[in-house]
Amino acid sequence: MRRRAAVVAAAVLAASLAAAVPALPASGADYPGVPTSPGPWTPTDPVGPDGFRHPTAATRIWRAESPSVVRIGTSVRGRAIVARRQGPADAPYALLVLGQMHGSEPAGRRVVERVRALRAPGSVQVWTISTMNPDGSVAGTRRNARGVDLNRNFPHRWAPTYTSRIYFPGTSAASEPETRAMMRFLDQLRPDLVVSLHQAFNSVDLGNPKTRAWAARLAAAFGLPTRTVPCRGPCAGTLTGWYNTTYAGFAVTVELPAAVPDAAARRYARAALSVGGRIPTG
Ligand SMILES: [Zn+2]
Repeated sequence: MRRRAAVVAAAVLAASLAAAVPALPASGADYPGVPTSPGPWTPTDPVGPDGFRHPTAATRIWRAESPSVVRIGTSVRGRAIVARRQGPADAPYALLVLGQMHGSEPAGRRVVERVRALRAPGSVQVWTISTMNPDGSVAGTRRNARGVDLNRNFPHRWAPTYTSRIYFPGTSAASEPETRAMMRFLDQLRPDLVVSLHQAFNSVDLGNPKTRAWAARLAAAFGLPTRTVPCRGPCAGTLTGWYNTTYAGFAVTVELPAAVPDAAARRYARAALSVGGRIPTG
């Protein structure tokens, strides 16, 4: 019972902390000084030597003027989804490390804790989201509170078909509030590189030709092999697939091993920052 009371107390504390975090509106208009999303990238955006399309002035302004802690949305059960920034607000590049999408894969959250304890490279805004699925995290389930696999719910090649309930993609694309929160935040931030942490395939996903070079760099830094991570059904509705086809930036899935001791979490945190610090030159 004592343990249960402690869990409840921690949940109450987390809820009160979350309530103090400002929400990120769909339009920046409600936030003094934060502009609205700069609009879709175009193939005419300037391309750097490493294939990066440099952020437009509007994106740089959004990044520079955004608060360093933002509540990007709310889960089905009303829990806050929070993003934090480290590094200089006027840094020209942005890295996002997403600790967790599937609540049954806890290691990435610990990696994010370690990232937050480190100094960010000066050239990069480092954004971290501990979990975009706080309900699944509390319940220890892959899916969100409505039984949707968020990594099948994004509107890129979304399909209603699935091979098992654990991959249920939702009733329509972006049907879930957690998916929409991430989409809105990614649209505003436009990270140059998104590192999406999962478990436990113990590899960095090589599945998308666009991101192959960054997958190789991440694999080298993390000390993980590269491979095409299987989707166990249609590879549709994924966050990385949506981001890579919608925006100029790169999104890579990093599958951590099943067991991640503290020393490994620290190592992975340093690895993510070291690769982030190589934007845009690689
Ligand atoms: Zn996963």
